[in-house]
Amino acid sequence: MTNSLTNRWPGDKAFQTLTDAQLYGLCKEYGARVLEARRKFIGLLPEVFKRQLHSKKGFGSIEEFAAKLCGVSRKQVQRVLNLEERFADKPALKLVLTSGEVSVNKLARVASIATSENQEELAVLAKKLPQRALETLARDGRIHSALSAKEGVGENKNANGLGKPLFEVESVCAHTLQLDEDVRYELQELQEKGIDVSALIRQMLGKRRADLAAKKAKLAAQTGKLSRYIPAKIRHLLRNEHGDKCSIRTCGKRAVTIHHTQRYALSRNHDPNFLAPLCREHHSIAHSIDGMFWERRRAPT
Ligand SMILES: [Zn+2]
Ligand SMILES: [Zn+2]
Repeated sequence: MTNSLTNRWPGDKAFQTLTDAQLYGLCKEYGARVLEARRKFIGLLPEVFKRQLHSKKGFGSIEEFAAKLCGVSRKQVQRVLNLEERFADKPALKLVLTSGEVSVNKLARVASIATSENQEELAVLAKKLPQRALETLARDGRIHSALSAKEGVGENKNANGLGKPLFEVESVCAHTLQLDEDVRYELQELQEKGIDVSALIRQMLGKRRADLAAKKAKLAAQTGKLSRYIPAKIRHLLRNEHGDKCSIRTCGKRAVTIHHTQRYALSRNHDPNFLAPLCREHHSIAHSIDGMFWERRRAPT
């Protein structure tokens, strides 16, 4: 369909008969082509610079060359030259940069955590993940250990069933604890009576953990072949455990989905030990790492 529409361009009266959906489709198609061509153009710039082709062709600078030929900003030019240099010992990342397969903006996000060991897998992730997820990944800063340890995902689970290397990040306790006035008052009173308030709270927390674990075990025992839909009881339990936040400790964003840390397609159950509420970014990270894990497992070697 799009091809025949494309051929009619420009100025065909039939254009006015396009539906909104068709018009939007054309916009997206042309837009995607422009962006792809632009990425490829930017990918060529390091080579242009090495040959000083811009001077040979009479441009004052590489920036002028990029601006005049493709409307590329000074910042983007500097970014690609800089990245190409940083990727000197990272051939996979260098290739996705210079071939224009991945944008400089995305690659700039992962450059900070790239090493010669993880660069191949980072290049795969950069192709798969949207920019925001890459930003989250870089912030978590655990890509290297996550990737190198993922063979052990099966036995290396934390309380949520998430692979430890990816999801166990040191807790940063920068938040101030907020207590209601009445609770503070009661605790203060107990402390004045000589009661060990910390021990008391520790005991309550321990009881909460034990309750959650017992409920989980009970629900896990009940999960036979179920529907795709996660039962309300299990959702309720997860909410009690994690509140409405992403279950990655340092994240703090709102959870948007409940992720099966064991592939649902394989496990066919909703064992709460293998479910974790995640924000959008951590969810796409979990899936691309999981995907790579499975691809690797299936490989003949
Ligand atoms: Zn998921
Ligand atoms: Zn998150």
